[in-house]
Amino acid sequence: MPDRDTDLDTEVTDLLADLVCIESTNPSLPGGGVGEASIASWVAAWCETQGLAVDLVDSGDGRPSLVVRSRPAQSRPESVAAPSVAAQSDAAQSNAEQPGPRPTTRTLLLCGHLDTVDLGAMTDPLVPRVDGDRLYGRGSYDMKAGLAAALIACREAARLGLDVDVVVAAVADEEHGSLGIQRVLDHLGAGFVADAAIVTEPTEMAIGVAHKGFVWTEIDVMGVAAHGSRPQLGVDAIAKTGTLLVEIEALGRYLAARAHPLLGPGTVHAGVIEGGQGPSTIPERCRLTIERRTLPGESPEDIEREVDHLLATCASADPDFRATARTLMHRPPLETAGAHPLVAALSDACRDIRANAPDVSGLSYWADSAFIAARGIPTVLFGPGGDGAHADVEWVSLRDTADCARVLVQLARHLGTDLRRNEA
Ligand SMILES: [Zn+2]
Repeated sequence: MPDRDTDLDTEVTDLLADLVCIESTNPSLPGGGVGEASIASWVAAWCETQGLAVDLVDSGDGRPSLVVRSRPAQSRPESVAAPSVAAQSDAAQSNAEQPGPRPTTRTLLLCGHLDTVDLGAMTDPLVPRVDGDRLYGRGSYDMKAGLAAALIACREAARLGLDVDVVVAAVADEEHGSLGIQRVLDHLGAGFVADAAIVTEPTEMAIGVAHKGFVWTEIDVMGVAAHGSRPQLGVDAIAKTGTLLVEIEALGRYLAARAHPLLGPGTVHAGVIEGGQGPSTIPERCRLTIERRTLPGESPEDIEREVDHLLATCASADPDFRATARTLMHRPPLETAGAHPLVAALSDACRDIRANAPDVSGLSYWADSAFIAARGIPTVLFGPGGDGAHADVEWVSLRDTADCARVLVQLARHLGTDLRRNEA
């Protein structure tokens, strides 16, 4: 292992502390928040001082994201990834006998979110406090540390003149609707090609190759309203929902027996229930919102069929049971094969920096990674250790954060050769 570059340790710590000082609570979460505008403009200014090219991706709603590049767009052979018709015909004319070599420029996409959850009951959430290896503060662990590591890695790739395009997507709204990553992928366009993507959410320095998706379903159970003194004239929608809740628990037991090797089983739970007008009225409607955490291979359509089956089971046991269901939102799961060359390349980079091989694991949480993978980009998660995501005491390991930056630089350095070797 090379001697530790303590300047980089200091620089990563300082950048992380600066990011924690800037409130970036997500305004779409209950209780509201200040949004990402301040932190995005601060990060954009930092990137400019470091000589990095920055695109502001702003839809005018005060929720900006950034695309940061280790090399300005004009210095990159963009035609390699998405050859224009003109470039193709020029090449055909000048190289009619000998087609050019396979493009060698590689692109590494790094992704971290700018937003955090609310400040909760934290003590001094925006005052970063260092205690030994730990830096405390809101967003330190989830995930300003991973963002700092990605930004420093991009800057190092530029400073070292690495022959790879390191692109950092610093995105808004991961903690709610993932507006940022969707807008950034639109901004990059259909012609954008990356060889690998690393989402630097906290993974305790393991390589996260899989996470679950989820589907939210709203179910309306219909009854017939009547006065409480004459229940024989009504149908109690809340009581009928009880039958459905029993079936949902049974579905949970069925799912529990079918585990994914890295993620465990899919799950289902009742998240919200509402119904009834008053104590003396037989309720005519009860609305239940359920969440189904999905495994790789389970589609929203699969879950819609599963819900239809639940409702049909209830109706076959009770002719008065009537309900309708609709999908409110769904997000895909992630699964990148453990044997993918990206996993081997990242493992090698970790071993170079940390001297031991990282775990390859599944993650309990959902992340923007699924959107990137859906674009056909091989994607894994890799970030520092710590604790307290969304909790009142949150901290991240400073050593891990700096090592994460080093590992990303090492991966960028060897991206071309390692991926080619492992693909061979
Ligand atoms: Zn996060």
